[in-house]
Parts: sequence; C-alpha cells; structure tokens
Amino acid sequence: MEVRILNGAHVAVAFGEPVAAMVHQVVAKRIERFLNGNSRSPASGGEGRDTGESAAVEIADGWLLRVNTAPAASSPQMEDLLRALALEAIVVGEQCIHIAPSVSVCNEQGLSTEPGGDQALSAIASDAPFAGEPVTHDTGWAERYRNDMRVAARLLADLKAGDLSLAFQPIRMALRKDKQLYEECLLRLPQEAGLPRGPGLDIMALERLGLIRVLDCHIMWLAIEQLRVEPERRLGVNISAQSACLDGWWAALSAALEAEHELAERITIEITETSGFPSMSAAIAFAQRLRQLGCRIALDDFGAGRDAIRNLYALQPDIVKIDAFFVRQARRSSRGQAALKALVGFARAIGGTVVAEGVETKADCDAAAQAGAAWQQGFFIDPPQHAGVEPGTEVSVHETRGAFGRRPVPPALAYVVEMPPAASAVDARVVSLPPRFELRWLQWAISLGVLFWALIAGTAWLGWGGSS
Ligand code: C2E
Ligand code: CA
Ligand code: CA
Repeated sequence: MEVRILNGAHVAVAFGEPVAAMVHQVVAKRIERFLNGNSRSPASGGEGRDTGESAAVEIADGWLLRVNTAPAASSPQMEDLLRALALEAIVVGEQCIHIAPSVSVCNEQGLSTEPGGDQALSAIASDAPFAGEPVTHDTGWAERYRNDMRVAARLLADLKAGDLSLAFQPIRMALRKDKQLYEECLLRLPQEAGLPRGPGLDIMALERLGLIRVLDCHIMWLAIEQLRVEPERRLGVNISAQSACLDGWWAALSAALEAEHELAERITIEITETSGFPSMSAAIAFAQRLRQLGCRIALDDFGAGRDAIRNLYALQPDIVKIDAFFVRQARRSSRGQAALKALVGFARAIGGTVVAEGVETKADCDAAAQAGAAWQQGFFIDPPQHAGVEPGTEVSVHETRGAFGRRPVPPALAYVVEMPPAASAVDARVVSLPPRFELRWLQWAISLGVLFWALIAGTAWLGWGGSS
C-alpha cells in the first residue's frame, strides 16, 4: 500500500522544509500505529481490525510512504485510516497542521481487485487527483495557506469533539406547501457566544487546502444516523465536487449504503460544482455508483460554476438546483426573469427535477413558479431549522460575490453577514475584517517612499539651481 501526503509540497512552502520533513515522519509513525492494531474503527462500528502482518512504513520521496501491508481497498478500515490521518493535527508551536492523505493499494498485477471488493472503488482508488489550490509563489500565498490551515484546524477540532451540528431546510412545492422533496442538511459550527453559524468561509478554506473530504464523509455519516432513527425522513447532503470520487473515503459509506438500500433511497447527494470537478470521469463514475446504490444526485448552484452546462450533460443529475443568483436577477429586470425561465427550461430538458434556490419573498416565489420552477427553497418557503435555535434567527456568513458563484480566493477585507428576513426583506450588512498584512503593501510603501524622495530631491535640486 502507498500513502501519499497530497499537500506535502504545500506544507513545505508554507511552513518550511524542516517542518514538512517532521510531518512526513509523524505520519509514518501514525500509519504504523494504526495498522498495528492500536486504532479503533468508528466507520465500522468501533471494531478495530488486525491485518495479520506487522506494518512497517518506509518514507520515500515525493511525499510518499510505502507500507508492507494494507487493508482491502474497499474495507471500512481504509476509510478509518484516511480519516485518522486527516483528522489528527500535527502540532508545531502554535500551528496545527493537517495532511490531505490518499491511499492506493497495489499488487504485482496493478490495482487490488480482491473478490467481494468494490470493483468500482478499486479501479479508481489510486487515481485521486489533488483537488486543492496548487502551490504558487505569489505574494501572500504562504500566509493565506497558513490562515486557511488555522480555519481548517478549528473546524476539524470541532468535528473531532462532536461539536458540529446540522440545520435542516426543506424544499417544497411553491403552490402545494404540503409537498416536500427532501430537507437539505446544512452544517452549523459552534460559536463561543451566540447562535451556531453557517460554514461558507470555512468550506472554502477546506476546499482550497484539499481537506474537505474528511468533513463531507463525516456529514454523510451524521445524515445516515439521522435517517436510521427517522424512517420517514428524506435528506439532502452537500458534498464538494472534490468528494465526487469513489476512492477509499467512500469505502465504509458505500458498504453501509449497499447494506441499507431503503435508507440510501432517502438520500440526495447535492454536489456543488462551483469549485470545479478535479476529474470529470471520476465524478461520472461516482454519480453512477451512488445512483446504483439508491441515492439521487443533485447538481447544486447550477449556473454559478464555469462549466455548468458541460457538467449537466456529463452527470445527468436527477435534480438541478438553480443558483440563487438567478432568482435575485429575476427580481431586478424582465431580462433577469427571461434568463431564469430559459435556465429552468434548459435544466429540465437535460437534467431532471428543477429547484429554485434563494426564494426570499412572495414575489420571488411567483417569479420562480412562472419561470417553471415549481420546487423551491429559501427563507420565504421555510428558513433552515436548527434544534434549539428560533427559526429565522440564524446568522450566515459568506464571502462577498464578485459576479456570481463562489470565489476561489478570499476577498481582502469584506464579508457579508446576513440575517434571514422575517418574511420579505434581507437585512445584509457588510462588515470590515481586521486588515491582514500583505507583502505587496510593503512593496507599495517602498515605491511611494522612493517617489516621495525623488520629488523632494528634485525640488531641492531645482531650488539650488535657481539660487545659483
Ligand atoms: P448551499 O448548498 O447553496 O446552501 C444554501 C445556503 O443558502 C445555506 O447557507 C442556507 O442557509 C442559505 N439560504 C437558504 N435560504 C436562503 C435564502 O432565501 N436567501 C439566502 N440569501 N440564503 C439562503 P449556509 O448554511 O451558510 O451554507 C452555505 C454553503 O456552504 C452551502 O450553500 C453549501 O455550499 C455549503 N455547505 C453547507 N453545509 C455543507 C456541508 O455539510 N458540506 C459541504 N461540503 N458544504 C456545505
Ligand atoms: Ca446545497
Ligand atoms: Ca445551492
């Protein structure tokens, strides 16, 4: 088996080569400890499994670790290993570092395809491309990476402590509010004081770092637990496009869904396309497999990503969720209304059931219905509900949007804090965040200083010239 630290080069640039080398060694020790039976297996119900052979790990170049033994590619232990490696922070001074691991299982013939294993899983297990932001030597990249790592570390610590929770927001038929498609699970993070908050910025940090897999996997398990205790419920689970890949992260999940087909039929996987699919062929195989297991596939935020139409053709989703941007545009002009109608028609022709997102007012609801989107979601239809929080009082924080869709890089200073409207108006406030030091500011300051000095010197020289 080979374990690769997909963000090894990133850690080396952001934290320095000695730290990265230390991370490499710590990970090797952790793999040995895990495989030699010291770790329990939460995905497989707390049952640790001994592989029989004693594991030894060899550190190789290219952020690679070679292991002389391996769990089966499709076994729950594979998912546990990935989870354990990604979730356990490596603490260096004040900074917690998380790695993005990938595992591949090989034999002399190539990939493991043992009898009874998940063939689809085995075929792709070694082909997980790194989907986070690449290392760049731009000014400020290393600092941004360290900031993102701080955000991720906080969220993953909350995950580990069991402090993440879910809000649920139904998707209903506009004219028949008693008809419900399903409820979307929305991640809520704890806050030191006040209401739990939505995750907009944190999700983007995890995506940029390539660390979103551990969160998506965890939320899938939370949803499965919820569906086990509530047999009438239907839930939608958000996953990043980075998680639309049938590798070891889905090992125990796909086994659980296969064993509980009736439960799988009550799950809709919402894949958001805004961060881009790292591998389209892997995403297509993923959608086919999950559909085969009984789940429905929804394409989220449709229209917001770069490759919306291509993705729609490729994934053939059961449900297409039109990005809230288009409902907002329909509010503003008849052109916006015509665009919404065209998009709904297009999504229905290629995909399946269409849902309009971001329906905040009665006027939005009518406009979306006129455009052909009978299924709707938004504060007007029903706000997200979180146990212990008064409906309609939730706070959500997200980055300001340039045009539409999610920005891959955080904006400099402004974030929008939105309170959901009681019924009709959105009270959105733009708040300033404390400025972050960036190297380019120093460059500007030096340029300004040089200019200022040239002006003074020039004036003085002219003054001397005039007086001589
Ligand atoms: P999304 O999947 O498009 O979810 C809808 C977001 O819009 C939610 O924000 C919801 O609270 C908010 N919302 C609902 N109705 C309205 C409305 O009428 N107007 C407006 N302005 N907003 C409305 P939230 O919960 O902050 O989540 C933000 C995004 O974070 C989600 O967008 C989704 O992309 C991502 N996300 C949420 N939970 C998860 C998760 O468990 N896993 C992953 N990977 N992503 C998640
Ligand atoms: Ca969604
Ligand atoms: Ca959406």
